[in-house]
Amino acid sequence: ATPTAIMVGTGKAAELGILISGGDALEQARRITTVVLDKTGTLTRGRPDVTALHIVDGVDADQLLAYAAAAETGSEHPLGEAIVRHARARDLAVAAAESFEAVPGHGVEARVDGRAVLVGNAALMRRHDVDVTALSDRTAGVAATGGTPVYVALDGRLAGVAGVADTLRPESADAVAQLRALGLQVWMLTGDNRVTAEVVAREVGITHVIADVRPEEKAARVAALQERGAVVAMVGDGINDAPALARADLGIAIGTGTDVAIAASDITLVGGDLRGIVSAIALSRRTVTTIK
Ligand code: ADP
Ligand code: MG
Repeated sequence: ATPTAIMVGTGKAAELGILISGGDALEQARRITTVVLDKTGTLTRGRPDVTALHIVDGVDADQLLAYAAAAETGSEHPLGEAIVRHARARDLAVAAAESFEAVPGHGVEARVDGRAVLVGNAALMRRHDVDVTALSDRTAGVAATGGTPVYVALDGRLAGVAGVADTLRPESADAVAQLRALGLQVWMLTGDNRVTAEVVAREVGITHVIADVRPEEKAARVAALQERGAVVAMVGDGINDAPALARADLGIAIGTGTDVAIAASDITLVGGDLRGIVSAIALSRRTVTTIK
């Protein structure tokens, strides 16, 4: 496209809340064959809440929550923030952790009141040989409704599972339908477990799901699609999405997401409305045909 056509195109996009970093991005948009969407914070709002708490016999629910919140206080993960917010809402006394370590793609490990506290997914429990079978029915129930099970272990033993659920962005399903109507293949790429991921995918009309992906693997998954001939637009909001956003043929960040994701992207959807992807592609097609 000519520089003038690109200026007009990016100007129109900006009016729609779609910030395009340059002419290359606008030209690239029309070549996209595959759109890969992160789940949490991209298809969903990214502000999950604790919606259930299942405890092992003999454990006090408030105490469990207080330990979990103490462990998550230093966490920047939305699941951790949900647990801290929930404990605060219940006016629980949350101790300061004596030590704390975030384990990307897994959860947190902390020491609170002299006790070892683990909060995270099944892989984190496996790493520490924590047997989770006592609550497997409850855990399955959480995932079956689209919630993320967050395990809590005290001193190496399972103490409970919190169900943490995020709500979909109202326009997500519509955006997916519009992308598919353009003939694009739509994928979900998430670090969350397969069951939860597939329930959410079904709700928005996505049939291709890559779940249980560790943060450092996201970019490789995008590259694998590219090796199979796909021209990929990756859409994400998190720090852990940044390498995949940079790897994709077109990186699209959610404007309310992290600065790191925005910096790694070619396009930013200011208000987070995913239908902006459709607008950007349509605009790209028009901008390019205008100058032919
Ligand atoms: P995503 O944001 O796509 O879910 P992450 O790689 O950040 O991917 O996390 C993968 C999974 O690890 C989460 O779904 C969750 O089960 C677990 N997890 C990560 N961080 C935390 C945390 N701070 N507290 C609890 N669970 C966590
Ligand atoms: Mg995310």
